Amino acid sequence: MNPTVHTYDAVIVGAGGAGLTAALYASRNVRVAVISKLYPTRSHTGAAQGGIGAALGNVSEDRWEWHAYDTVKGSDYLADQDAVDVLCQEAVDTVIELEHMGLPFDRLPNGRISQRRFGGHTNNETGRPVERACHAADRTGHMILQTLYQQCLKHNVTFFDEYHVVDLIRVGDTIRGVVAVNVATGEFHIFHSKAVMFATGGWGRCWEVTSNAHSLTGDGAAICLRRGVPLQDMEFFQFHPTGIFKLGILITEGVRGEGGVLINNEGERFMEKYAPHIKDLASRDVVSRAIFLEVQAGRGINGRRYVHLDVRPETVNRYFEKEGESRRIDAAYIESKLPDIADFTRTYLGVDPVKEPMPVQPTAHYAMGGIPTDVDGRVVVDPQRTVLPGLYAAGEVACVSVHGANRLGTNSLTDLVVFGRRSGVNMADFCQQSDLLPLPDGAADEVIAEFERLRAGRGDISPYSLREQMQTLMTAKVGVFRVEEPMREAIAELRALRDQYRAGLELDDQGRVFNTDLMEAWELGCLLELAEVTATSAVARQESRGAHAREDFPKRNDEEWLKHTLCYKEGDDYRLDYKPVVIGRYEPKERVY
Ligand SMILES: Cc1cc2nc3c(=O)[nH]c(=O)nc-3n(C[C@H](O)[C@H](O)[C@H](O)COP(=O)(O)OP(=O)(O)OC[C@H]3O[C@@H](n4cnc5c(N)ncnc54)[C@H](O)[C@@H]3O)c2cc1C
Repeated sequence: MNPTVHTYDAVIVGAGGAGLTAALYASRNVRVAVISKLYPTRSHTGAAQGGIGAALGNVSEDRWEWHAYDTVKGSDYLADQDAVDVLCQEAVDTVIELEHMGLPFDRLPNGRISQRRFGGHTNNETGRPVERACHAADRTGHMILQTLYQQCLKHNVTFFDEYHVVDLIRVGDTIRGVVAVNVATGEFHIFHSKAVMFATGGWGRCWEVTSNAHSLTGDGAAICLRRGVPLQDMEFFQFHPTGIFKLGILITEGVRGEGGVLINNEGERFMEKYAPHIKDLASRDVVSRAIFLEVQAGRGINGRRYVHLDVRPETVNRYFEKEGESRRIDAAYIESKLPDIADFTRTYLGVDPVKEPMPVQPTAHYAMGGIPTDVDGRVVVDPQRTVLPGLYAAGEVACVSVHGANRLGTNSLTDLVVFGRRSGVNMADFCQQSDLLPLPDGAADEVIAEFERLRAGRGDISPYSLREQMQTLMTAKVGVFRVEEPMREAIAELRALRDQYRAGLELDDQGRVFNTDLMEAWELGCLLELAEVTATSAVARQESRGAHAREDFPKRNDEEWLKHTLCYKEGDDYRLDYKPVVIGRYEPKERVY
């Protein structure tokens, strides 16, 4: 059967914070369809806990320039500083705009938005932590997502829920739309448009222990890669220091922002050794490595692969007192500021954080790399930053790059709304100035054939077991610490997994209706490809920077490596290229904590 064709000016793939913000703006001027494989409010943005960063200065003095400096320093100087300025300057009015849309932020007694501390956010003059994370308890992302979705409904944005986008229609250097599967029926649909934006989120599912939802399989990045777009800085993947032991479920940095501390088996607050100034609130790469080293040295709790995160009031108050801070907390305060966290640990671990410390280990969390864009969300395809007209990306799938080699906590939610808005506005302008180009013949044929191949597969390995093998090897060989030889082995093993994937999988369900087995098999293809791109980019970068820690090259090397990686897919191989970093006010210097 021929696919059903829908025509819009612009198509936005993804209904998380980035997609919804862009939709809200673009739909003011042009006809927009938002396509989402999940019901919109199930998007991972809804799981974000701790806060959204903006230098409002509601609790203590703050300036957007300090936010910018912290972001650049946190990025280990790989962020493009022109883009960071946009992020931090526009953060302030986008947060206020969210408030005006009705987002129920926590409040201070004077009625202003409440802000708390988060890793790496400082007063640049004193070096002390500054309260910059605007939050709604520990459900900030949930509130953002609900608020944006309500606004989209109010403004009559058109949604195609549970439509899974599987291909981009590109002819030369023009964009003609996307191909999607209606999950309920298995039918193919073509969305014919002048512009396409990907806002499909991250790919933490490449690793074994992750904070990411099951759906975070990097579809948008993989689709663009297959259609000739390079992926940028893929070696930089953030491991958040505090995932629930074994499960990976995130315990927000807000716990440490409220005074929580990390403790090893000897009862020592070990971050005092690794980051004497900012301690437990050092950036995530630093804290994750510290936990890893403590565990490696045998100081994990009971010799196992975790440490304790302690937010019991008596512990927190003891450290406040030691550091000369006047504030004190009690159990009721923890319950009100961290209700979801308390709920998670009670439910999943039987641990009550008010009475006991929580077992935590680093968890794969956030993709700093992704589809390269400029500050208006336009996809740029080479070291000269040439724009591919009509193609946009925003949110976690994009690499603007504001996070460089390591993202600061709260900066992703800021990124979604700041660059979501800019992309939406620019995309609407583009559509108003462009004609709808015709669809090529058989636009969906290639991907339909791939689906038939997957469905017909009678291989002897299940997608589940293949995925597990990939996750285990990525964790062991392309994880928190990296070394050349194991990474080379990882690349070879990933190739072998890719061959097995091509040879055919064993699928339980060969039907069409709600065949999630089939959709997950297709998603696995995306994960395998992104894992290979990550390993290929990582083995080439012979230095340590941000989240990319090489045991064989422990130092940052600005002379050779102060540059962004671009990875292109060419046939079955990957080719690397590099582009310069935009430096502004802040010359690279050593990070001191
Ligand atoms: C547990 C957790 C806590 C976090 N806490 C914070 C925090 O406190 N502060 C902060 O700044 N950041 C936080 N982050 C990071 C931040 O939440 C994410 O980076 C961000 O929400 C990603 O938003 P997004 O709009 O890019 O994509 P997502 O919200 O992940 O949405 C992706 C969308 O794309 C759709 N999609 C994907 N593939 C397809 C496809 N093939 N076809 C159709 N649709 C598709 C999905 O249906 C979904 O709607 C947290 C992340 C996690 C996992």
